[in-house]
Amino acid sequence: GIRIEDLHLSFGETTVLAGINMEILPGEFFAFLGPSGSGKSTLLRAIAGFGPAPRGRILIGDRDIADLPPWKRNVGMVFQSYALWPHLSVRQNVAFGLEERRLPKREIDSKVDAALELVGLLQLADRMPAQLSGGQQQRVALARTIAIEPQVLLLDEPLSNLDAALRVQMRRELLALQRKLGLTTIFVTHDQEEANTTSDRMAVLDGGVIQQIGTPQELYDTPANGFVAGFLGTAN
Ligand code: ATP
Ligand code: MG
Repeated sequence: GIRIEDLHLSFGETTVLAGINMEILPGEFFAFLGPSGSGKSTLLRAIAGFGPAPRGRILIGDRDIADLPPWKRNVGMVFQSYALWPHLSVRQNVAFGLEERRLPKREIDSKVDAALELVGLLQLADRMPAQLSGGQQQRVALARTIAIEPQVLLLDEPLSNLDAALRVQMRRELLALQRKLGLTTIFVTHDQEEANTTSDRMAVLDGGVIQQIGTPQELYDTPANGFVAGFLGTAN
């Protein structure tokens, strides 16, 4: 699991994370909902080790990772714009992060095959990204992240470039894969239905502050404040 204690982050005068505290259990699928600019991407990037260093603690298991460089954090992140290398094949794209880690070639090959198998793309391993659909490209991005065998998977609106039907299909696949791997996952989305149907628990973020954490049911049934109620569109 992952524990975040009193995380603060500012860009100049602007406070973007204003004291985040939360704990995500091992194997949990945790969704983050919140309006644009509420700090969702900043939080994920801080966990992954990108951007300015926050104040506070980030623990994976018992280990404080806040001072580690990104590649030592055991965290994998998939971005909204999943930017595959256009000049590299599917296989080479997935292998890229492993090659950076200087693993032996045989080990790289078997990890790449396993990751592509998991996302159902082994047959397309030698295609170039331009020869793939949007959903297939997103699967490659996911395979690329899974291949490094992260302890925590961070997903920043990974489905938002896909059309509605594909989004629904991909979110099922994503959840099935997450369950299969038992991977602790934080999933940022704008889409309430996506959060409700996938997450074990979710948090609503506004102004760099977590407004409420709970199961989707709890948030809908008993929103903690007017913001949560309004944001989720609940009656009370
Ligand atoms: P969205 O739903 O639109 O992706 P978000 O919740 O992911 O929004 P963030 O990207 O985390 O929001 O941004 C939070 C705030 O931090 C915004 O006000 C944004 O303008 C500001 N911000 C983000 N990155 C920087 C930066 N590098 N420099 C200055 N301000 C930034
Ligand atoms: Mg964002």
